[in-house]
Amino acid sequence: FDMFVLAFLDRFFRTTYKKDDFILGKKLGEGAFGVVYRVSLAKKPSSKKEGDLVLKKATEYGAVEIWMNERVRRACANCCAYFLYGFLESSSKKGGEYWLIWQYEGESTLSDLILSKEFPYNVETMILGEVQDLPKGIERENRIIQTVMRQLLFALDGLHSTGIVHRDIKPQNVIFSEGSRTFKIIDLGAAADLRVGINYIPKEFLLDPRYAAPEQYIMSTQTPSAPSAPVAAALSPVLWQLNLPDRFDIYSTGLIFLQMAFPGFRTDNGLIQFNRQLKRCDYDLNAWRKTVEPRAGVELRRGFELLDLDGGIGWELLTSMVRYKARQRVSAKAALAHPYFDREALLALSFMQ
Ligand code: ADP
Ligand code: MG
Repeated sequence: FDMFVLAFLDRFFRTTYKKDDFILGKKLGEGAFGVVYRVSLAKKPSSKKEGDLVLKKATEYGAVEIWMNERVRRACANCCAYFLYGFLESSSKKGGEYWLIWQYEGESTLSDLILSKEFPYNVETMILGEVQDLPKGIERENRIIQTVMRQLLFALDGLHSTGIVHRDIKPQNVIFSEGSRTFKIIDLGAAADLRVGINYIPKEFLLDPRYAAPEQYIMSTQTPSAPSAPVAAALSPVLWQLNLPDRFDIYSTGLIFLQMAFPGFRTDNGLIQFNRQLKRCDYDLNAWRKTVEPRAGVELRRGFELLDLDGGIGWELLTSMVRYKARQRVSAKAALAHPYFDREALLALSFMQ
């Protein structure tokens, strides 16, 4: 089936919405570029249970965010929160704003979950339901963190395979979907679609400094400014190979892995402090470890202990994600094939040792 026909059918037969269809509920978030509310439909169609929805009223970047979400829905629907519809709402003041509608996935972001004293056991209950009263040891914690990382990398691989770089991966932009009991990515407001040249010029000012990789520009500064769309479409697979812009998201995901392993880095201040330490070590995680481990407290030592399980396979994965040079970081696909996620391979490995 032709992509064009599919897109046309999708546009034509899908339910469309307008301003008055929604009843605004609780405000869920407010960023520099929009406000997010929980909403419901004014009159629910009796045949279908639409459930609760989420509305983002976005400013200038709304159009790009709609584009990204429509692409994601077609190419990797379960990577991200399910997107229903986006439109320009022009009846209000100041030239209108973009309205974006998603399915309400659940009440917890990964940020809420890792800031809880219960983490990672709170996540275990959410993924598996009520769990038996197993001993709460470091191996069990590692198993839960592995599951979160696998789901996160799976979603990221979906985005990257579609040609989309998220550029704002952080626990606040990872939502737990209560329906599918998995983590999904949200907030494509800073994303770039390199295959068709949408949002091609890097908007580095959008990036969250706490989770941003050290490279200032995601595309090398050598690459020319945005070519026309058809030219970009032909060029971008080449540019993708040259610049590996997806590795920017990998660095951010590595920092999430780090935060899950070390409770001390889960708060903003903790993470900022870690970033300062790592920069002082020229972004070399092994060098950082050498400086902090000798005088590490209980918490920090426990984090290393977790990552050192199974012959240090967790630490190996972490150090292959958080690296100064984008080229030396693993891709999402390669990370998913890492032995950290492969218990069978690990068993074989332990037999060989
Ligand atoms: P921004 O960061 O630009 O304000 P987000 O898209 O990240 O906008 O949404 C803000 C917050 O709203 C999220 O951190 C999350 O708590 C909540 N949220 C967004 N989308 C959903 C969704 N589909 N389901 C449930 N909650 C959501
Ligand atoms: Mg956000």
